[in-house]
Amino acid sequence: LDQKVKQNNWEDSNFINYKKMSENLAIIRGRLNRPLTYTEKILYSHLDDPHGQEIERGVSYLKLRPDRVACQDATAQMAILQFMSAGMPSVANPTTVHCDHLIEAQIGGAKDLERAININKEVYDFLSSACAKYNIGFWRPGSGIIHQILLENYAFPGGLLIGTDSHTPNAGGLGMAAIGVGGADAVDVMANLPWELKAPKVIGVKLTGKMSGWTSPKDVILKVAGILTVKGGTGAIVEYHGPGVDGISATGMGSICNMGAEIGATTSLFPFNDRMYDYLAATKRTAIGDFARQYAKELRADEGAEYDQFIEINLSELEPHINGPFTPDLATPISKFSEAVKANNWPEELKVGLIGSCTNSSYEDMSRAASIARDALNHGLKAKAAFTVTPGSEQIRATIARDGQLQTFEEFGGMVLANACGPCIGQWDRRDVKKGDANSIVSSYNRNFTGRNDGNPATHSFVTSPDLVVALTIAGSLHFNPLTDKLKDKDGNEFMLAPPTGDGLPSRGYDPGNNTYQAPPADRASVNVQVSPSSDRLQILSPFNAWDGKDALDMPILIKAQGKTTTDHISMAGPWLKYRGHLDNISNNMLIGAINEANGEANKIRNSTTDEWDAVPAVARDYKAKGIKWVVIGDWNYGEGSSREHAALEPRHLGGLAIITRSFARIHETNLKKQGMLPLTFADPADYDKIRPDDRIDLLCTELAVGKPMTMRVHPKDGKTFEVKLNHTFNEPQIEWFKNGSALNTMAKNAR
Ligand code: SF4
Repeated sequence: LDQKVKQNNWEDSNFINYKKMSENLAIIRGRLNRPLTYTEKILYSHLDDPHGQEIERGVSYLKLRPDRVACQDATAQMAILQFMSAGMPSVANPTTVHCDHLIEAQIGGAKDLERAININKEVYDFLSSACAKYNIGFWRPGSGIIHQILLENYAFPGGLLIGTDSHTPNAGGLGMAAIGVGGADAVDVMANLPWELKAPKVIGVKLTGKMSGWTSPKDVILKVAGILTVKGGTGAIVEYHGPGVDGISATGMGSICNMGAEIGATTSLFPFNDRMYDYLAATKRTAIGDFARQYAKELRADEGAEYDQFIEINLSELEPHINGPFTPDLATPISKFSEAVKANNWPEELKVGLIGSCTNSSYEDMSRAASIARDALNHGLKAKAAFTVTPGSEQIRATIARDGQLQTFEEFGGMVLANACGPCIGQWDRRDVKKGDANSIVSSYNRNFTGRNDGNPATHSFVTSPDLVVALTIAGSLHFNPLTDKLKDKDGNEFMLAPPTGDGLPSRGYDPGNNTYQAPPADRASVNVQVSPSSDRLQILSPFNAWDGKDALDMPILIKAQGKTTTDHISMAGPWLKYRGHLDNISNNMLIGAINEANGEANKIRNSTTDEWDAVPAVARDYKAKGIKWVVIGDWNYGEGSSREHAALEPRHLGGLAIITRSFARIHETNLKKQGMLPLTFADPADYDKIRPDDRIDLLCTELAVGKPMTMRVHPKDGKTFEVKLNHTFNEPQIEWFKNGSALNTMAKNAR
């Protein structure tokens, strides 16, 4: 294990460290003295302190050292802007950025890409120059979707990756623990802070038997989603194992892990096997495959390892499934689907079939889909519904262009879109139905929430395998079941579609296509990061001010929020996403969804200096301009929802000092600490009710110490001052974050 094997073919100085991982595991084995799941082996072998780390599944917070970071272009903007404010010369851990989310599907791949490059020029210029400056690999627009690129180039068995996108788990197809995180976590790892994860529970899924006919790997996760539902995987890693695993291609395993995000799982994993070796070899990484074989015994669960929950699926009996509409866990086997369409009154006509995306755009997926389209063409049939193809990467596009599948799709009536997310993330200029018209679409994607694809809440979006997408597209109807139903050929003769066939890997190897990668230059000191001062989408962040060392006296309550206050209430998504690289502009959405206890309304609060009612961000800006610090009072589980760091950056930017609640969602609480704010909770939750929105607040910040409560003095408008005790969860290093103004200021200070 003492060899130097490179992590990938793009970076010369990043190596796979199986030796270190194996040493860490030996320490853990000595401590735990029990068989380990594969999940545990990967996580524990990446512990920052394998000797001292407390380990209890579902309870402890693990401090980890991931091997890599990956960001997509939408989330990378704020992550990199924050990283820049730490003043470090380069990222501390290998990082890549992928341009895939900002390309809108309209008329076809090449034109759409060209348009996107113009519209998003300032974002791409910023990312490209920042990547060059800070030693980050940059995948230009047109290169493909982050998760496909990661599988093709960067994933390796036993590795730990964090990515700023929910479907990062796709890399589990190569036995990597790949976890979707918020931008703030990515920044930590870029800046060399350990990354924290609550030790996950482990759900074991045992696969037996072998798939055949119309059943495909996607059906495994469609079935699992039906069993576990959208919440069933929360706080857990799903670990597949059993004899059925060896019958699934690496890319098929990737699809299964990818869509594991839909059950809320932290990630999903397959153990290292020969199918992964074959894929590594096909993608020019035989050395990694050989190295993994040496370390193979640690790249699977130990005999007798125990799971917190256990599911068994017999692949020989697994039926193709279609999930949806509106939620990915409504799983219906194809044999029952037509009935379900009738019973639920789902629109019967299929308007559009969409294949590809990060979930299902492997060579195998494309070959099988093309075999069905070819079968139809041979019978004189074309797609009845509209049909789109999204290649997951430039390499896939070039390879299927060379091998003929792409031509088949075009002949079949398909439109080939750019190698990007496109309709999967709503980047779809759909013209065939009006907003509000009920209609059905079916895709090989992973997520089908209301309005996700086309912004039309009446669109019934179903997810399934690419195979079934093509079959239904031929029939143009949701009632068609290719396993039992006949079609009529061009002469009116009945026939049945043959089950799909196709190679798992291209027999002539992959064609890399156009070169879309930008490596960081050797001389990075002279690179200038490009941000126009007049940009409304990007803004360089200035470091936040350090704490003034004093108690904060006589502060107004900006808002006393009532009931649920999620990260969406604190920093809304939708149209605001455009500004996610511009802190000042996006701060105009701060807390506009929170309900003010004073009037039961959103985004209407009283300015204590003028007595006027105004929007929340406007009042905060007025206080900031007048040099007045403020606090927010919140209810239970404040900040639940996403890990969006903007929800913590915005109040800090607009001059907030503390958020005082009955309780916090943990990630938001940590994000607030990272930005130098004080997340505090009422020692007695009933004290929440004693506070009035127009009370004045003193916070005795000088009392801040590990494990000690902080005193808050409340001055009611008319009435006697009283004291309330507030708890917090700051540890020593986190107190430094507060004192220095933020975690990044602390990193920058320590780096000097
Ligand atoms: Fe996310 Fe869809 Fe893009 Fe995949 S293709 S990364 S699911 S938006």
